[in-house]
Amino acid sequence: METTNNIHPIFDRLLQRADREKRLNQKAKVFWFTGLSGSGKSTIAQGVERKLYNEGFFPQVLDGDNIRIGINNNLGFSVEDRRENIRRIAEVAKLYLNSGIITLNSFISPTREIRSFAKSIVGEEDFLEIFINTPLEVCESRDVKGLYKKARAGQIKGFTGIDSPYEPPENPDLEIKTAEMTVEEAVEKVYGFMLDHISK
Ligand code: ADP
Repeated sequence: METTNNIHPIFDRLLQRADREKRLNQKAKVFWFTGLSGSGKSTIAQGVERKLYNEGFFPQVLDGDNIRIGINNNLGFSVEDRRENIRRIAEVAKLYLNSGIITLNSFISPTREIRSFAKSIVGEEDFLEIFINTPLEVCESRDVKGLYKKARAGQIKGFTGIDSPYEPPENPDLEIKTAEMTVEEAVEKVYGFMLDHISK
């Protein structure tokens, strides 16, 4: 057998992010939603995801439901575990980013340090911070999952906003005050903001 038969075809280059973005007709970005538990991150992110999809974009929400029960199911809420949680989420978001996909990451990510860590993994130019700014009293009165009640009763330790700090972003790319608008209005506002960043 001639040795040339064993030579594999040589590709011009590997498939690039730009090729995938072209196919998907969008620019990939990571939108990082931060805010207290119950502030509305997931509700808004999921609403925006649906809207983006209906408008022809290709988005993906990453949140506690698909991350904490899967890839991060061995992590708790200690400082180290929260950091590892965010590191893995940021790395996953980066993989999506390089696949040309718009990701909407919905995680409390309570400290400036942890958000800037996430940003450093994703890359500054592709990371947009959306602060879902809802007062603690409002989040607590919503108490969607009954967690505030448990935290107040001392059944959950280190709960963000109760006995673990939340540091609001100083300079978010977008701020949404959910106590002053409906879910639909919040979704429209976030969607409008995103368009500038994701449109080809
Ligand atoms: P998080 O993901 O931040 O923990 P969720 O999205 O799970 O918060 O819960 C937010 C709750 O607040 C939902 O029950 C939602 O219906 C309610 N809510 C009320 N008004 C708004 C608003 N303007 N924007 C987002 N959520 C709102």
